Amino acid sequence: MKANTPPDLRTTIAGVPVRDLADQFGTPTYVYDAATIVERIKDLKPFDAIRYAQKANSNIAVLDLVRRHGVLVDAVSAGEIGRALAAGYKPEGEPHPIVYTADIFDRESLDLVVEKGLHVNCGSPDMIDQYGERVPGGSITLRINPGFGHGHSQKTNTGGESSKHGIWHDQVDDCIARAAKHGLKISGLHMHIGSGTDLEHLSQVCGAMERTARVFASTLDTISAGGGLPTPYRPNDGRVDIGAYFQLWDATRKRLEAVAGRPIRLEIEPGRYLVAESGYLVSEVRAVKRMGGNTFYLVDAGFNNLARPILYGAYHPMSIAPADGATDRPRVSAAVGGPLCESGDIFTQDEGGYVCTRDLPEAKVGDHLIIECAGAYGFAMGSNYNSKPLAAEVLIHDGKPHLARRRQTLEDLIRGESIPKLD
Ligand SMILES: *Cc1c(COP(=O)(O)O)cnc(C)c1O
Repeated sequence: MKANTPPDLRTTIAGVPVRDLADQFGTPTYVYDAATIVERIKDLKPFDAIRYAQKANSNIAVLDLVRRHGVLVDAVSAGEIGRALAAGYKPEGEPHPIVYTADIFDRESLDLVVEKGLHVNCGSPDMIDQYGERVPGGSITLRINPGFGHGHSQKTNTGGESSKHGIWHDQVDDCIARAAKHGLKISGLHMHIGSGTDLEHLSQVCGAMERTARVFASTLDTISAGGGLPTPYRPNDGRVDIGAYFQLWDATRKRLEAVAGRPIRLEIEPGRYLVAESGYLVSEVRAVKRMGGNTFYLVDAGFNNLARPILYGAYHPMSIAPADGATDRPRVSAAVGGPLCESGDIFTQDEGGYVCTRDLPEAKVGDHLIIECAGAYGFAMGSNYNSKPLAAEVLIHDGKPHLARRRQTLEDLIRGESIPKLD
């Protein structure tokens, strides 16, 4: 159980000086440490298959990296299918290299799935019919909503009655009938109850999976434990006990194998767990100002770059890279905000949106402020709000930084827009 304690003063990221990264790539820039991603992949090796939920971070350099380490991929949209293919994933294979998991098919994704022969994981009964009409005699997996859920916020809870995700657990018979109508084989079951969930809640899924899977045992070859593994964001957060979690699922799988009389593959589908700790959002301090009793550090990154604090009151560790190379700085209690014309553009806020302060080293204009544990749902949820370009992304591999996405330009911002001819 390693607590995540970032240094408050930081001079390097994955062996590369912060100053060099800022000089070479500008700020704000997302920097990912490949070695951390590879370490997290190794943690999950007890599972038969690791399927990366790429929505957490879908840069094709990251997808390529995880693919090279034997990780399969999940896609929730036509765009994510396109990214997986661009990163070198093959459309077909056993186990399926790419799986499309969603609650609906938009028309584009249905066409693409059929054209490429991709496997689909259906999150609504309607998907079964829509797929079956196009690919009669195929095989599908079902995403089941076990009737309960959990998540680090209501917005990340993906099970239970008020969640839109998955097929409600008591509609399984209806799904079997729909599948049979199109000659579809149900080859797997999948449950994902929420993100950042604790082990106790994640474990409840095992029981629900077993109850539902017994109905399908004769055709089952895969069960998926979904994602949701938590990441240690705060200094005292421990790491989840993967060994214990695997044991629970392995026991479930073995009981199902006994019923089915055939081997069943056990997949896990993490997003956050693989990439969160690898990511650093490097910003530059552009103003240090006092508002009454509060000190604000204003940096050139905002919620257009990292939305988790404004969306969920999420906590991210922060460090300062002093421009003058100082190795010691007095402590200051400061709030940290961005450049956007919106009062919620604050990285130190709690779930109610209240501005908090953080005990940080003193910062000066020109220092770099690094928002850590930002590799998951960081860049991926970025926007062009306030006409801010999307940040650059850099992957550090063996001590060498590689540009994984160049910073957007003004031309990128207005691409596709046009002014009507009015005169
Ligand atoms: C988002 C998602 C995941 C990954 O969730 P994490 O909390 O990032 O691990 C896995 N499976 C499905 C279906 C998802 O929608």
